[in-house]
Amino acid sequence: MSGRSVLITGGSRGLGAGIVESFLASGDTVSTCSRSRSELVDNWESQAPERFLFRAVDLSQRDEVRDFVRDVVAAHSRIDVLVNNAGVANDGVLATMTDEDVDQVIDLNLRGTLTVTKAVVRRMLRQGAGRIINISSVVGQSGYRGLAPYSATKAALDGMTRALARELGSRGITVNSVAPGYVATEMSHGLTADDLAQIVRRTPLGRLADPADVAAAVQFLASPAADFITGQVLTVDGGLTA
Ligand code: NAP
Repeated sequence: MSGRSVLITGGSRGLGAGIVESFLASGDTVSTCSRSRSELVDNWESQAPERFLFRAVDLSQRDEVRDFVRDVVAAHSRIDVLVNNAGVANDGVLATMTDEDVDQVIDLNLRGTLTVTKAVVRRMLRQGAGRIINISSVVGQSGYRGLAPYSATKAALDGMTRALARELGSRGITVNSVAPGYVATEMSHGLTADDLAQIVRRTPLGRLADPADVAAAVQFLASPAADFITGQVLTVDGGLTA
């Protein structure tokens, strides 16, 4: 399926960039945001100017989020798919973490995601259709030492997925989570080589996740094949949590 208007948060690098690439490749129109630009963003702007929109947005700032969603609708008339991807981890043991680090995780991962989703849902309700896909994490299910605030926000996103699926099902909107295992991006740079080797050892499929693995699951949930799937968490972790 092609020609959809897809909004992906945090598309400048990492997993989000993989998801942007995947929707551009399937012929869709992609809007994305992050606080700063990247070389990838510059390339997409020059390669697909009619099908790609970028705005510098801090998703923890409500006004910036509302302006961004308004710009996307003004440019592309509708939003068929929302992928809530932007997130921050700020690892550290809770006892010694700064309040600022705890707040940043909650402000972006949870409050920012709720703010974007609220603005986009208002548009989807008018359309009578839409797909919302929240990028949570296996640590929202299993936890990980040094990631208490992050794990809390990811479990919360899965809760949001289930509640919104019930709230919006009768209006033609599905809501699902994709919960990746560990992906080699800037976010996982805090893990030591020993941590990564242990994760790979415990993963039946014997490697870390790749952004393309996660993008494929997102594409599935955005496709007609997933018409009757809502309120679910699709785990993409090579069997780590099986
Ligand atoms: P990443 O490489 O750190 O990329 C994060 C993206 O979010 C960047 O585009 C970043 O751009 C943007 N961002 C950060 N803070 C923002 C803010 N306040 N406002 C707007 N944009 C902001 O992270 P990633 O590994 O790709 O992670 C993407 C998602 O996957 C996250 O939700 C993460 O929790 C989830 N995930 C990751 C892993 C993993 O192992 N990497 C595993 C499971 C789930 P700027 O910094 O320029 O704003």
